[in-house]
Amino acid sequence: MAELEIFQFPTRADNYGVLIHDPDTGATAAIDAPEAGPIAAALAEKGWRLSEILVTHHHADHTAGIAALKNKYGCTVFGPAREAGLIQGLDEEVGEGDTVSVGRAKATVIDTAGHTRGHVSYYFPEQGVVFVGDTLFSVGCGKLLEGDATTMWRSLSKLAALPPETNVFCGHEYTGANCRFALTVEPENEALQARAREVAANDAKGHPSLPTTIGQELATNPFLRAASPAIQARLGVEGQSPEAVFAEVRRRKDRF
Ligand code: ZN
Ligand code: FE
Repeated sequence: MAELEIFQFPTRADNYGVLIHDPDTGATAAIDAPEAGPIAAALAEKGWRLSEILVTHHHADHTAGIAALKNKYGCTVFGPAREAGLIQGLDEEVGEGDTVSVGRAKATVIDTAGHTRGHVSYYFPEQGVVFVGDTLFSVGCGKLLEGDATTMWRSLSKLAALPPETNVFCGHEYTGANCRFALTVEPENEALQARAREVAANDAKGHPSLPTTIGQELATNPFLRAASPAIQARLGVEGQSPEAVFAEVRRRKDRF
């Protein structure tokens, strides 16, 4: 089995940069390109050379570094076919079910539209890790900027169906604020209470709350817990469809 070393570092205001490295071949990919300077510095620190960029969606805080990194390393840029016109420097267009290789490690592309029209996630089944950009956050999810609640619910459901031990890397560190909102939706959830305490302690020390796991999100994330009777009762949407409950949680978060 191909091993994959993963290096996560903060960049911009609240983004994460992530490098993944196959030690057998030396192949190294950046997940998104929020900013060229910190990614180049991270590569230098690890002694890795960038071979690929795996873009999740077209927003500037995920693509601003592409041109400079391509120029410096000659790397190949993969990204969502449905946003090809919005991502400068894209070399390979990908969509649902496609395979992307980083050295000997192989990712399956999952269409996770909703935050944007063509957003994709990159799932490495052998290594048990998924990079979800701005679709799923720890204890939260992306805003519905270009998709409706039904589309986003379908995307989140695909991620929720991955093995619970799957490690999840997200585009942003929003977990503290997400916990404060989630506790208004499901205050009796003990797993959520414990997560909020853990995140507050991490924040105080400047430690990241990520990666998370699918299992931890299923237990704590109100956007994945539409089936929870407690959430349905609190929001006054008892017995409604999962996507309707999800839509109500999302509406409340937008106003929080
Ligand atoms: Zn975004
Ligand atoms: Fe973002």
